[in-house]
Parts: sequence; structure tokens; C-alpha cells
Amino acid sequence: MSARHMPRRALLSVSDKNGLIPFAQKLSSHGVVLLSTGGTAKALREAGLDVTDVSDVTGFPEIMDGRVKTLHPSVHGGLLGREGIDDAAMKEHGIAPIDLLVVNLYPFEESVRKGADEAGLVETIDIGGPAMIRAAAKNFERVCVITDPEDYVPLLAQLDEGGTTRSFRKQQSSIAYGRTAQYDLLISQQLHEGEEPPRRTGSVGRLASTLRYGENPHQKSASYTTAEERIGVLSAEQLQGKELSYNNLNDTDAALELAAEFRDRPAVVIVKHANPCGVATGDSIAEAYTRALRCDPVSAFGGIIASTRRIDRQAAEEITKIFTEVVIAPGIDEDAKELFAKKKNLRLLMIPELPDPAQPRKILRPIAGGFLMQDHDTIVFADELKVVTKRAPSEKEMADLRFAFTVAKHVKSNAIVYAKDGATVGVGAGQMSRLDSSRIAARKSQDAAEAAGLKEPLVKGSVVASDAFFPFADGLLAAADAGATAVIQPGGSMRDDEVIAAADDAGLAMVFTGLRHFRH
Ligand code: 5GP
Repeated sequence: MSARHMPRRALLSVSDKNGLIPFAQKLSSHGVVLLSTGGTAKALREAGLDVTDVSDVTGFPEIMDGRVKTLHPSVHGGLLGREGIDDAAMKEHGIAPIDLLVVNLYPFEESVRKGADEAGLVETIDIGGPAMIRAAAKNFERVCVITDPEDYVPLLAQLDEGGTTRSFRKQQSSIAYGRTAQYDLLISQQLHEGEEPPRRTGSVGRLASTLRYGENPHQKSASYTTAEERIGVLSAEQLQGKELSYNNLNDTDAALELAAEFRDRPAVVIVKHANPCGVATGDSIAEAYTRALRCDPVSAFGGIIASTRRIDRQAAEEITKIFTEVVIAPGIDEDAKELFAKKKNLRLLMIPELPDPAQPRKILRPIAGGFLMQDHDTIVFADELKVVTKRAPSEKEMADLRFAFTVAKHVKSNAIVYAKDGATVGVGAGQMSRLDSSRIAARKSQDAAEAAGLKEPLVKGSVVASDAFFPFADGLLAAADAGATAVIQPGGSMRDDEVIAAADDAGLAMVFTGLRHFRH
């Protein structure tokens, strides 16, 4: 058991002054001597606290608009000096130890959010703060570093127990290096210009919550937020239900991103295992939901639902008829909330508005020893759609083709999506062969029709979308056999001619998008 350290001299230099005064008062009551920089010292003095200016410690004024305040051996020596090793050097140069450092950095993140220009961004790059943080964090044997106002309370709790433990200081050191890394990475990303990928990068994150477990119970996991300003499941307000799990977060993200594609109309997405098992538009959310559910009611059990509009009582009545894990929507009516409240396990989430699918961002995917980075797939269609068959799609077919291709963008490859009247009627996902995805989608639609007591599968008279080209005519012919009348696909196969001829023979209308949407 190592002894606790009660700090004697603390340096406080904070941009975010929230909670500073009561915190400093407590430090003071523990007998800690306070040193501080310009603005922080002023705030402390105004609150009646006794504080020494850092410039009195360094014997050097703060210069260059604060660019140089604490960059001095009296500060860095005080933070870095080791007990029992550097005592002589400290004595020789008149350096007194600093054993508590409380710093939070110039608000670079805020400048980014507020869209500051280049000069504005550069001026909010903190230099002395990270230098002190890194020095103090290195010397955790003797020094405690606090970089987040959220840690004021835990620190005071330590002091109430007689001082900081080594494990607490080491933990704070780890948080501190994470903080400076995150800070520098954001600066690096903001300064990056041009088409070339950045030479060096990493991942930025702030712990949002510790999750019970990961994809499986034996995997530990947590969720993190980034500086990216994007509305999503992590910014949603949870109105009821159990904690969100790793899989809930992942699936809700998928559902919301797909729903966002249809933000111009009432639409509902039902997701299972990150793939949609029903997507539909409607005159109301209740109607969109029932039409989405019809696509694959068996899979929809225990699903994740995203809505593009407020959920009213009528929609809630439909949704609560079966077991659902998560519902997310940009608003929920009071009488709908009352209905949901009866389903204790249902996690109800509200977002202020839908995310913008066209907002550019980077997607990271870890692989052993590193990670891949790519641009988010922000578009659905690039060029005009090109009719390649003798028959052109009717207006109604065209609307469904666009709808189906948009959904296919969000289905794991190989993706085949059948749709009719603005609703999916069969989804084939994640197969290694496009032909299998085609067959599975058609079979699911058959099952759904049987379950609903319909004479003919919903897929009859539908259209079909494929996320990538049909390499052979077989996948397309399977769709025609199932009852599809029109096809949308990127085109670009070596055998396009063969595939087009097969479509013509089968009387299908087909359009090429020229754009592929793999999702692996
Ligand atoms: P204050 O409001 O006390 O004048 O300034 C506090 C801020 O100054 C903190 O965010 C701290 O990280 C930063 N800071 C402390 N020393 C230096 C320094 O030498 N140079 C720069 N650029 N910033 C510093």
C-alpha cells in the first residue's frame, strides 16, 4: 500500500472556468497553495481566494497575448522534478515543486464548431497547456494532473481521504495523454488540406458510456463521441427503457442513417442486425410502419425502428403490438409516450432532427495492425439514370426504382431489394452470391404473403434494385421469375450486353445508375 499524497502547491490554468471557484475553495481549505495564470488568477481573486501569479513564480511576465505564460523552467521543473532524484537540481535553481496541475485547454473544439477562420483556429491552439499537462502526467509518481472539470469531484474525494493514491494519479495521467492526443489530432485534421489522405492520423473519442458488454457478453465495450457535430443515436435523448447495448447502438445507427435518406417524407425503417428488414413510406407514420412490417414480419420481431416524423398515438399503437428493442424519432407525442411506457423494455429515443445524409465525414474501420479510412458514402445517385432496355420504366416503376436503390445502399452486400408502392417487399442481404440474395429476397416475400394470407407474393409486379452490377443474367432472371417488372443497377459488367438482352427478352425495363453502393 503506497501512501496518499496531499498536494501542497497547485497550478490552476483553465479556459473553461465552470466549477472552478468552489473547487479552488475546497483546495484552499485543504491548505493547498494556489498558483495561477492571468484570467484564472483574476477569477480566483474576485472570489476572494489567495492566489500567486505564475509570473511571480517565473519572474517573467505573460507575453505575446498569452502565447508565452507558463513556458519556463520554474514551472516545468516544478512539474517534472522527481522526488529524491532531482532535489539538488531544484534547490540549486530555486525551483519549488508543483504537485497538482489543473489545466483545461484553449477551446479549439469550440472554434471548429463555430466555424472560425484559419487565423481564429490558429490562435486557439494551446501551447503551454499541453506542455504542462504532458510534464505533469509523466511525473505521476509525485504529481496529480486534472484536465477535465468532471474530475474535480473525484479529486476532492481523494483529498478528503487524505490525499491522492498512486492509482488515481496514474489514471489521471492516462486521461491527460488521451486528452492532449485528442486535442492535437483535431488540430491536425483541421489543418489538413488537399486531396491526399493525411500522412498521420488516429482516432479521437470521448467516453460516452461504458456498455455492459460488446457484440457478445464476453467482450468488453464502451461508446465514444467525437468532435464531429452529427445528430445520431449518441446525441439522442433516451426517454425510457433499459440501457442501450452495443448492438442496439450499432443497429439504431444503421436505421437512422437509412431513415435520413427519406427525410422529405413520412417513412419508417425496421432494422435487424444492421440490415433493414422493412422500409416504407406512407401518408402517416402508422401507415408507413404497417407497410414496412409487412415486408418481413418474422424478422421484424425485436427490431429497431427509425421514423422520419414525430410518432403519434396511432403509430405507437401499431408499433407496440409486437416486441421492439428500440424506437428512434424526431419527436414523440405525449399520448404515444403513454402507450410506450407500458412496454418497459422498449428503449425510446428522441433526436432533435434527422441527420443530413449528405454531410461529409470520414469512416474508420479497424483491421489488425491498423485501420482503413474512407469518405462516408454521401450520395445515392450521381448522374441521370440511363434506360438501357427497349422498354422504359413507367413513372410509378421509376419512383419505386429510386426508392429501392436508396434502400439497397444501406443493405449489406450482396444487396437485392424488391419494392412496390414506396415499400420494400423483399430484402436479400449479405450473401456471397448475388443470385442467392435475389432468391432469398423473393422467398422472404413469398413467406410474408403466406403469413398475411395473401394469394400472391408481394413481389409480383414489384421492381428490383441491386447494389452492384449483375455479373451474369441469372440473378436478373431470378428477379424476373419472382415477378419483378423493372430493374435498377449500376451497370458496368463485362457482360452488360448479355444482361440487357436477357432483360429485353423477359420484357423488363432496366436503368443503370453508373454508381455502386457496396457495403461490407
Ligand atoms: P488564463 O485564462 O488563466 O489567462 O489562461 C488559461 C489558459 O491558458 C489555459 O487554457 C491554459 O492551457 C493556457 N496556457 C497556460 N500557459 C500557456 C502558455 O504558456 N501558452 C499558451 N498559449 N497557453 C497557455
